[in-house]
Amino acid sequence: MSKDRSKLNLILVELGSLPFSLKPVVARLNRVQNYLRFGVGDPVPQIGDPDLDSYEYSFSKLSGLASLRRREQEDYVVGITSVPLEGDWFSTSLARSIVITTHDADRFMAEAGLPVEKYVELEIVSNLLASEYYLAGGQEHGLWHPSPMGCIFDFAGIKRDIIRKVREAKIERVCQSKMDIANVAKSLVQACQSILNQVRKTSLTDSAKIALKDPIAGFLLGGVIVSVFLEIIDQAYPLARLYSAVALAVVLIVFVLSIYYRQNRGSKQ
Ligand SMILES: [Zn+2]
Repeated sequence: MSKDRSKLNLILVELGSLPFSLKPVVARLNRVQNYLRFGVGDPVPQIGDPDLDSYEYSFSKLSGLASLRRREQEDYVVGITSVPLEGDWFSTSLARSIVITTHDADRFMAEAGLPVEKYVELEIVSNLLASEYYLAGGQEHGLWHPSPMGCIFDFAGIKRDIIRKVREAKIERVCQSKMDIANVAKSLVQACQSILNQVRKTSLTDSAKIALKDPIAGFLLGGVIVSVFLEIIDQAYPLARLYSAVALAVVLIVFVLSIYYRQNRGSKQ
């Protein structure tokens, strides 16, 4: 049935509060492909107390809350939260409901200098493909594997492995052929590949964010700001400080660009 569809509609729902906005995420997901249509549902700010031991929320509770926002035309509802999920998992899905948490992923992404939104985009793709694989007659959970290969179906039982998974954002050949055998729609897989290409790419803003965490770049930026400030309050040395500010700014820009090119060269497939 899913094979005959030309498009799948997905709605993203914020559960509790997230440290980023879902709107730019949805805009990016829609921009890079045409097969999947993403939208943002009304958020659910109050999610109540954890319903499991050790402060975890069950999948059924979170997916139930997200489903409140599902309308007739939506094929998938994706609840996105920052609270700990049942089993301490990063994400899970059942019957066209997906729940993704940024809990723990946020600090691993920060450590790797990656925006947490990339993690969210990757988890949407892996869960969507895993669900469609199952719906196409594949084995339940059949795509996930315990061995970390930088594949989007890495289980990441050792949570730090999530860094490699997001950085490489690829579909291993073994997993690709499982989807081929199950007849998962080609256009769906292509759309997901386009999203993954986007996940692998480092944007100029990402590079700038990474650079500004670097002590050298921080020092340069400080120099630029101080020079400009002194130039404004003290006109006794005409333009001398402004020139030094421009020189420091140029070095800073070169620094950011070098990170940008280095990261994108390393991530080309
Ligand atoms: Zn795989």
